[in-house]
Amino acid sequence: MPQNGSTQTIETLLKEKRTFKPSSQFQKNAHVPSFAKLQALSRAAAKSPEKFWADRAKDLLWMKPWKKTLVWKPPFAQWFVGGKINVSVNCLDRHLDGPRRNKAAIIWEGEPGDVRTLTYLQLHREVCRFANGLKALGVGSGDRVVIYMPLVPEAAVAMLACARIGATHSVVFGGFSTEALRDRINDAQAKAVITADGGWRKGAVVKLKDNVDAAVADCPSVQRVVVFKRTGNEVQWNAAKDVWWEDAVRGQSAVCPPAALDAEHPLFILYTSGSTGKPKGVVHSTGGYLTQVAMTCKWVFDLREDDTYWCTADIGWVTGHSYVVYGPLANGATTMMYEGGPLTPQPDRFWDMIERHRVTIFYTAPTAIRTFMRLGPEHPRRHDMSSLRLLGTVGEPINPEAWLWYHKNIGGGRCPIVDTWWQTETGAIMISPLPGATACKPGSATFPLPGISVAVVDKAGKEVPLGEGGYLVINKPWPSMLRTIYRDPERYKSQYFSQVPGVYFTGDGARRDKDGYFWVLGRVDDVINVAGHRLSTMEIESALVSHPAVAESAVVGRPDELKGQAITAFVTLQATQTPTPVLKDELCRHVAKAIGSIARPDEIRFTDALPKTRSGKIMRRLLREVAAGQGVKGDTTTLEDFSILTKLQSAEDE
Ligand code: ATP
Ligand code: MG
Repeated sequence: MPQNGSTQTIETLLKEKRTFKPSSQFQKNAHVPSFAKLQALSRAAAKSPEKFWADRAKDLLWMKPWKKTLVWKPPFAQWFVGGKINVSVNCLDRHLDGPRRNKAAIIWEGEPGDVRTLTYLQLHREVCRFANGLKALGVGSGDRVVIYMPLVPEAAVAMLACARIGATHSVVFGGFSTEALRDRINDAQAKAVITADGGWRKGAVVKLKDNVDAAVADCPSVQRVVVFKRTGNEVQWNAAKDVWWEDAVRGQSAVCPPAALDAEHPLFILYTSGSTGKPKGVVHSTGGYLTQVAMTCKWVFDLREDDTYWCTADIGWVTGHSYVVYGPLANGATTMMYEGGPLTPQPDRFWDMIERHRVTIFYTAPTAIRTFMRLGPEHPRRHDMSSLRLLGTVGEPINPEAWLWYHKNIGGGRCPIVDTWWQTETGAIMISPLPGATACKPGSATFPLPGISVAVVDKAGKEVPLGEGGYLVINKPWPSMLRTIYRDPERYKSQYFSQVPGVYFTGDGARRDKDGYFWVLGRVDDVINVAGHRLSTMEIESALVSHPAVAESAVVGRPDELKGQAITAFVTLQATQTPTPVLKDELCRHVAKAIGSIARPDEIRFTDALPKTRSGKIMRRLLREVAAGQGVKGDTTTLEDFSILTKLQSAEDE
């Protein structure tokens, strides 16, 4: 919660008026083909959420039916209690009896350009053999396994193999350092680590095995390290612990009976990206998680049998879990995976891949879209991307200007955009348009999905009037919600259920406009207080980005004797622009004109890059420290590029 200010809500300034209705062409075949249908679903679900979710769960294959749909002992939820289920069966075995048997499950492209396709039958075989291999190494139900891999098909195989035998996986993003890896292995008390010799990133080999060696030296729980050969670089070998992937599966049977797991069995632990502080081990369930992930993947991305669906997230993030692996495979879809950097070898890598693989659905993050904006539309323009029919975004609020750029230059003006709001903690999408039903407003995630109950409230938990900003909360338990923080239920309670009475607090600010649309305003920790006005930094940033010279910006407050806080804006310019004092003045005037003089920046600092997490989110808490002229003291272990911070600080010393 914000430390400053006596007023309880957030003032909002940005007024985006443009709307984009779904085309009749798109609506014709959509799973949810009209707003009236969506509203009917939402009304029915609001009346009886348990019935709504039970109906969705029935789309999955259960080994034993559940007895009770929901047991809610606030703040702890259990869904589909008494039911037995296996995620790998739902993602694989279920599709083998029909025409999906030989359909591509995964189309993968490595950074050097190598391509592999695994059909459902082939993926099933790989998963079963590796699951048997894990068992032979002594891994069983209830054990924790850390996966620290490049984005290769074997990463998905490893996740599904854990799911098959009931081992709880914890994927650690391959870009994390040895220290971050060590802390996560130790917190999870992992028995085994699955890694690779290396992975390709921006034309170079990231030596994953070296990082694992250094980490496990301080991880007494780790008994075995499985190493997939990807890059062929030399590795150190500890014969007591290490085993090559190919040796682990050699001679293993392609039959592996799936464990019948409790619906509440922990499928995975995932440590949040840490935009705000010490990573938390978010624990997700099996039955409830898969129910909501499968349903949202089908409805939000309007998945059809012949789609080639590409979500660019790494499996190290929750988006990679829910919408690269589990969601699409549970729906029998074809999911595309790409190992490397988006600008390698050229800035048009993504567009080239879309053209070659005839991708139909493309889901990425605002940070990527802003990067592409900065590089210019000539890169996508070189490619035939007419196969695309739907676009999505996730991770941060998308500035309306970036939304419009995406719509025009990637979507050819014809593809709906689903702006999906959710969190590691929510497990699956919560607020999003449905592409055949919802009229979109650029920058708004629109409405909660059927079965999801959210509200914008003040500190006392009272709903604020339409048009006013406040705290985004979730009123009722949902199937894919986190169950706890691993080995720290007290932190689970205090983090999520103690700030606003009786409900789950998301940590985000939001407002609803007069039409009831939700606009996520970013983290409430980032709200600034200027002369008694509580302002969302995201709105000032969007105003800056709407100036043609600006590519990206981050706004923070710094202490100011007169106003409480003064507004500092860090600004990255378009590649073609040069920073000048005249431009600074112009940008200040531009913000004042676009959203009001109260939001006029007191200071603008040009910078080539902004400090971001490894998942690409701007770390405003570090910029606050820079703006205040203090040295940076906060946790920087999840920072993507430390040199950016050093540059920002030394620029200030000049
Ligand atoms: P940490 O919680 O460790 O600080 P994080 O919040 O960045 O890290 P995630 O769970 O990946 O980790 O991100 C969820 C957050 O991302 C949301 O709470 C919200 O602030 C932001 N977010 C995600 N999608 C959207 C969206 N479509 N619109 C606006 N904000 C979004
Ligand atoms: Mg968060």
